[in-house]
Amino acid sequence: MSGVNGKVVAITGASSGIGEATSLLLAERGARLVLGARRSDRLETLTARISEAGGEAVHARTDVKRRDQVEGLVALAGIRYGRLDVLISNAGVAPNSLLDDLRVEDWEEMIDVNIKGVLYGIAAALPVFRQQGAGHFVNILSTAGFKILPTMAVYAGTKNAVRTISEALRQEAGDKLRVSTISPGFVSTDLASSMTNQEIRSQTLARMEQIAISPDAIARAIAFAIEQPADVDVGEIVVRPTAQG
Ligand code: NDP
Repeated sequence: MSGVNGKVVAITGASSGIGEATSLLLAERGARLVLGARRSDRLETLTARISEAGGEAVHARTDVKRRDQVEGLVALAGIRYGRLDVLISNAGVAPNSLLDDLRVEDWEEMIDVNIKGVLYGIAAALPVFRQQGAGHFVNILSTAGFKILPTMAVYAGTKNAVRTISEALRQEAGDKLRVSTISPGFVSTDLASSMTNQEIRSQTLARMEQIAISPDAIARAIAFAIEQPADVDVGEIVVRPTAQG
């Protein structure tokens, strides 16, 4: 199967930003969406918006820190659509700070959401993909993992951990499954709302206002990876603003 049309796509963190933009774009191109995030009111609105535009979507409240809820999201794809073609692990948080600040709870939150959340997705979808003999993992990383900056030690570390896991997954997956990673640069989303250090949050918001690109740019990159023929595995795409140094 190639193209986006008809594919069943589950996505975590679908309630805002990149996840929301990707859900709308894929639905417009005929994908059947399974939307997950914690804010179910926003998922409900998004599902209605997709349906009103003639698309197909279902949603389930999903905290990616809960393995059972991530399993539930993947199971919903099977229940409603009979299969799962793509899992986009997009949910992420970035409560960045200097290591000296010892915001250990924030470090744990990033590890739990950005790494363990993705692993729970792999644990839930891999058996389904094996059984189907097809499936595609799309993991959202960050340019923070390429140019490592102060305050982003743990965030960049989580994204690079998922890069490493994704490469091993790709090799273990064999010739029937696909694994893609997408690394966005500065994108205009709600990500700063997960920042607990107010100074860093204000700086990030100011920088976003200056240079950030639309989440639609990332959605298009994700769609590109998905729409390739089954024997074409798009490894890594980096999409950043031209103004990002
Ligand atoms: P948003 O804050 O707009 O979106 C983040 C999404 O993650 C929300 O839908 C949120 O939903 C969800 N989320 C957070 N915690 C959890 C959780 N425990 N369980 C389930 N869902 C959760 O930011 P972005 O769209 O920017 O973020 C999407 C991804 O893109 C992240 O992985 C981020 O690291 C990455 N990224 C973003 C960049 C940017 O500049 N914006 C740059 C590089 C990478 P809810 O709160 O409803 O659960």
